[in-house]
Amino acid sequence: MLEEANKLNLPVTFRAAGTSLSGQAVSDSILILTSKYWTNSEVLENGNRIKLQPGVIGARANIMLKPYGRKIGPDPASINSAMIGGIAANNASGMCCGTAQNSYKTLESLKIIFYDGFLLDTSNSESIEKFKIHHAVIYNEVVQIIKETQDNQKLVERIHHKYKMKNTTGYSLNALVDYTNPIDVITHLMIGSEGTLGMIAEITYNTVIEHAFKASALMIFENIEMACNVVSILKSAPVAAVELMDRASLRSVEEMEGVPNYLSTLSQGASAVLVETVAANNEELTAQIVEIEKAINHIKPELPFKFTDDASLYNQYWKIRKGLFPTIGAIRKIGTTVIIEDIAFPVPRLAEGTLDLQDLFKKYNYDKAVIFGHALDGNLHFVFTQDFGAASEIKRYEDFMEELAILVVDKYDGALKSEHGTGRNMAPFVEKEWGAEAYILMKRIKQIFDPKGIINPGVIINDDKKAHLKNLKPLPKADDQIDKCIECGFCEANCVSYDLGFSPRQRIVLHREMSRLDALGLSKEARELEKSFEYGFDSMCATDGLCMLACPVKINTGDYVKRVRARKHSGNKIAKMIVNNFSLTIKGVRVGLTLSHVFANIIGHKAYNKVVGTATSILGQKMEWTKYTPKAAQVKIQKQTGLKPNALKVVYFSSCINRMMGASNSYGDEDTVFNKTLNILNKANCEIIYPEDRENLCCGLAFKSQGFAESANIASDKLFQSLLKASNNGEYPILCDMSPCSLQMRESMEDSSLKLYDITNFTTEFLLDRLEFVPVDKEVAVYSVCSLKKMGIEEDLYSIAKLCSTQVYTPSTNCCGFAGNKGFNFPELNEHGLRTLDEQIPESVTDGYSTSRTCEIGLSKNSKVDFKPIVNLIDLATKPKIN
Ligand SMILES: Cc1cc2nc3c(=O)[nH]c(=O)nc-3n(C[C@H](O)[C@H](O)[C@H](O)COP(=O)(O)OP(=O)(O)OC[C@H]3O[C@@H](n4cnc5c(N)ncnc54)[C@H](O)[C@@H]3O)c2cc1C
Repeated sequence: MLEEANKLNLPVTFRAAGTSLSGQAVSDSILILTSKYWTNSEVLENGNRIKLQPGVIGARANIMLKPYGRKIGPDPASINSAMIGGIAANNASGMCCGTAQNSYKTLESLKIIFYDGFLLDTSNSESIEKFKIHHAVIYNEVVQIIKETQDNQKLVERIHHKYKMKNTTGYSLNALVDYTNPIDVITHLMIGSEGTLGMIAEITYNTVIEHAFKASALMIFENIEMACNVVSILKSAPVAAVELMDRASLRSVEEMEGVPNYLSTLSQGASAVLVETVAANNEELTAQIVEIEKAINHIKPELPFKFTDDASLYNQYWKIRKGLFPTIGAIRKIGTTVIIEDIAFPVPRLAEGTLDLQDLFKKYNYDKAVIFGHALDGNLHFVFTQDFGAASEIKRYEDFMEELAILVVDKYDGALKSEHGTGRNMAPFVEKEWGAEAYILMKRIKQIFDPKGIINPGVIINDDKKAHLKNLKPLPKADDQIDKCIECGFCEANCVSYDLGFSPRQRIVLHREMSRLDALGLSKEARELEKSFEYGFDSMCATDGLCMLACPVKINTGDYVKRVRARKHSGNKIAKMIVNNFSLTIKGVRVGLTLSHVFANIIGHKAYNKVVGTATSILGQKMEWTKYTPKAAQVKIQKQTGLKPNALKVVYFSSCINRMMGASNSYGDEDTVFNKTLNILNKANCEIIYPEDRENLCCGLAFKSQGFAESANIASDKLFQSLLKASNNGEYPILCDMSPCSLQMRESMEDSSLKLYDITNFTTEFLLDRLEFVPVDKEVAVYSVCSLKKMGIEEDLYSIAKLCSTQVYTPSTNCCGFAGNKGFNFPELNEHGLRTLDEQIPESVTDGYSTSRTCEIGLSKNSKVDFKPIVNLIDLATKPKIN
């Protein structure tokens, strides 16, 4: 692609996860995604090194390194979404890594693809020799600029000075003074080059220790000066992270659930310093805490503080820090943009700089602006909201940015971009920060590596001094549920349809564009747009809502898609007829499944799939039949006998799916979920209560996910009334045997007195003492479906599996993509969702377990393992307890 773009003189921009904050991963020309096909990785030398392609998510690399007690050095707050290509190209860093463990410092070698498609592997001498011949001009020019720079003492000093702070403004000129070997210089120049010099095709990092012992303290001081004094002292103390938060920051999160109450009662100027210390063992940790406390004990805090390693308190402290950006994002006026800036002052002048910055906010009426940051490096972030819809507002922003540059550069000789990269937004100020000589050198670097100026043009080097005021992204009002979106892209890593259909961010952008068109009176164009993207937006959305778990402002785009579907379906008569005659539907499906299996057994599953495909296509929605499609469920209510005196009364609601769908052919003679659950409850001495009108009940999920909101509510209300009665107004626990339905019930009956349990947490809470677990001697895989993740009870599933089997593997993906009916109608989503499943399960494993009958169909179809309901394993591994 690069080669072709070069031939055709077409600009290209690389994009990894697209979470950048300075406008460096956008293009109106060719956008090359270095994510989808660039996800290989290899842990080397017992985790001391790791080789990664640019599409590996940072957090994924750390998961691979965890067993070795190691991690990659760079730790941006976006690590759960940001990918290695973007992390390295931005030289991103975070709370702990400082400047000692960023990509520049921990890089071992790179594979680089240059503008003409030539590949250089900096770890391979043969490749280097080829490069020297093929790209003699680049090589010789680099030799020349190294010499010229190193001979220029004034420039060398300027470069050293600039990197005393954390700094990502402009190119990494430190490469030219830290190294003399041209290949080393090229390798390090690529770091922080924001995709403007070539593509990073692979990076090998030297990893760093992930300490197992950590403790944090939240220190509150009366004013920002005292807090900054503490920061200066801590620079030479054994600390891993020191985060500063001003009064406005603390105020912005005081209403947030789970933060300490005292935040709202602090004095007017109170400022916080959040400190973390890490160690290899407890003794070391204690000694470090003593040393830190001693170093600052002459500065009186506003409130007494104490280091803690208690997870709940520790998480509370970090929740404050991590909540700052999202909170501002969530409370901003609709239509405004959240701006996050990223400057650095020299640490000894941090207090003075912070006060000046607060004055600047006052001057420009940015009343809600908050300041926080990685104080140990003098790195401050500030967040404010900005309306780009009015010329006067753009002017206010322009003047503010001009004065900010004067403040940071002229008064403090600080950095205008400390870790987020220059991008387009700070490109007009690079020369101001660095001075003419260094800027000319940067322009020369760009010219050497990109002679035609087609690689990410306008980023870092930009002659337009108003570039930061152009191409501003509109955020038109679209819908209350999605208006808060800041388009950061964190959702994408959690979305099953990303890379196949749309991601949640793309869904929201589409609807914003439709709203913009509607507002302009271009409704026809808006509807055309909607229609042409229906597959990506709707068909490919599993509506699992996992996107919300990653979203800083907690948008559930899955729910939004359901609402869009509901708008199209409102008042659908067939759905209402079904919900009001539900037992008939169940019987109908059972008959259908029975007949289908008869035919499929005669003509073969493949041939029958063709028949089903053709017939359903004619009816409008193609469906798939596979050998894993379940047989009709046999539901046999048994009269309970022999209950002992301490019997536990439990209401058992079996989901409609489990009442319709039984075992797959591959399960042999294993029984249905319903009958297995009865076995378990009987063994555990539970008195089973069935809700009234059992056969007519449904949680409503099947209707809700299709957009039949009214029918979903009818179903859910009916179920609620029946459960209320059966549980004696909430006295007895209620068990549901399918996780997606458990979640739906939890959500729709949230405010009720009902004690609702999924099969997983019901087992851990009630059955561990009532059953004897005898682990089965076989390796099993256990898959947590997205509803378990959303309910936060994945661990319950894993712990049950570990009681039931001698060896448990826990592969994980986003949602599996089966999504109720999607697995039958759009099997490609399911296939895509499970594309990495097999590689996570050893060859020797043949049996898998999960908690959703439909997901189990897709899991079996798309892996080498036969997935069954977890109740099958529990039943196999348990006996009645003999007291
Ligand atoms: C809420 C939030 C918090 C953040 N916190 C931090 C933080 O703590 N610290 C921090 O440093 N940043 C932070 N960021 C900014 C951003 O997430 C990071 O800089 C991140 O490393 C970017 O990675 P990405 O995969 O999204 O890269 P992208 O945004 O896709 O790309 C980043 C740059 O790298 C280039 N690029 C991408 N792939 C390649 C490649 N293969 N070869 C060459 N160039 C390439 C792109 O052209 C672009 O210029 C935050 C962002 C958000 C939204």
